[in-house]
Amino acid sequence: MTKTVSVGPVLIGGGNPVRVQSMNNTKTGDVEATLAQIYALKEAGCDITRVAVPDMEAAQALKEITKKSPLPVVADIHFDYRLAIESAKNGAAKIRINPGNIGGPEKLKMVADICKERGLPIRVGVNSGSIDRKLVEEYGGVCAENMTKSALDAVKLLEDVDFDDIVISIKSSSPRLTIETYKELARRCDYPLHVGVTEAGTLREGMIKSAVGIGSLLSQGIGDTIRVSLTGDPIDEVYAGISILKALDLRSGGITFVSCPTCGRTEVPLIELASEIERRICNLPYDLKVAVMGCIVNGPGEAREADIGLAGGKGEFLLFKHGKTVRKLKAESAVDEFVEEVKILGEESKSN
Ligand code: SF4
Repeated sequence: MTKTVSVGPVLIGGGNPVRVQSMNNTKTGDVEATLAQIYALKEAGCDITRVAVPDMEAAQALKEITKKSPLPVVADIHFDYRLAIESAKNGAAKIRINPGNIGGPEKLKMVADICKERGLPIRVGVNSGSIDRKLVEEYGGVCAENMTKSALDAVKLLEDVDFDDIVISIKSSSPRLTIETYKELARRCDYPLHVGVTEAGTLREGMIKSAVGIGSLLSQGIGDTIRVSLTGDPIDEVYAGISILKALDLRSGGITFVSCPTCGRTEVPLIELASEIERRICNLPYDLKVAVMGCIVNGPGEAREADIGLAGGKGEFLLFKHGKTVRKLKAESAVDEFVEEVKILGEESKSN
């Protein structure tokens, strides 16, 4: 089992639930926009967020952001140890650095000391692109062995300044390399692991690569916190992260949505209707399985298994609740009526 690390009130590792992270894409100096996005991330189910700290203005903005943020905020720093120190002073719950490029052992010790004093962990973040050239040459290219060695070398730099409140990430844009590297890393240390496929791509490509990379590792018990990295809205990163956890039964609660792929039997505009229903219910605070199915051949079976479901007919749907047929809904008004029914059932289940 990995060690436990506290990121503000959120515990990572040591058998705690796998945490979902994202990263703001607002300018950190724009406190209002950054806080608005953090609130939206929290609403979507995010556990921890990270902000870029490229300059002193951003490090100072953290003071107000961390005071008002509903999520622990991680400060992401490259090269400048002063930004790490300022971020630690201004309420960051964790600092993400690459110990190898922060300016040498003395400066690293200054960062480690203030983090220790304030109980802040450090994430050692190494990417395949930042591996020492000598290591790349030695192994004839980037591979799991030199990625792991690079991460453990960076960890050693922190251990040498007497710091071990560490989370490690070692990311690549290749899911295969990511999987091999984290497996090796998990074998060789017991620090909690922040798992993700970096620069995974846009929504479509990124979600698939992340689901494969992160999902494979989690299914083998590797990974304590995850970030789906997408060229897109960070909210989608959170949704994708939660979906990966739910697919592996690592997170329960909330709405579980199932819908059929449609086929020649479908006689309702299911694709549009199911997408709209999912969009409107996905964040509701109810533990419900919801099914939206296209026809009365296979539909009722799935819809009955759900807490609440629809099975399409000709221009209309049958509504099921807890396996019982309730009534018919016209396709035109089905979305509004069904969303209302989901909310009513959600409230009823809460009070039971
Ligand atoms: S539930 Fe019905 S409409 Fe949907 S894919 Fe299955 S058979 Fe086709």
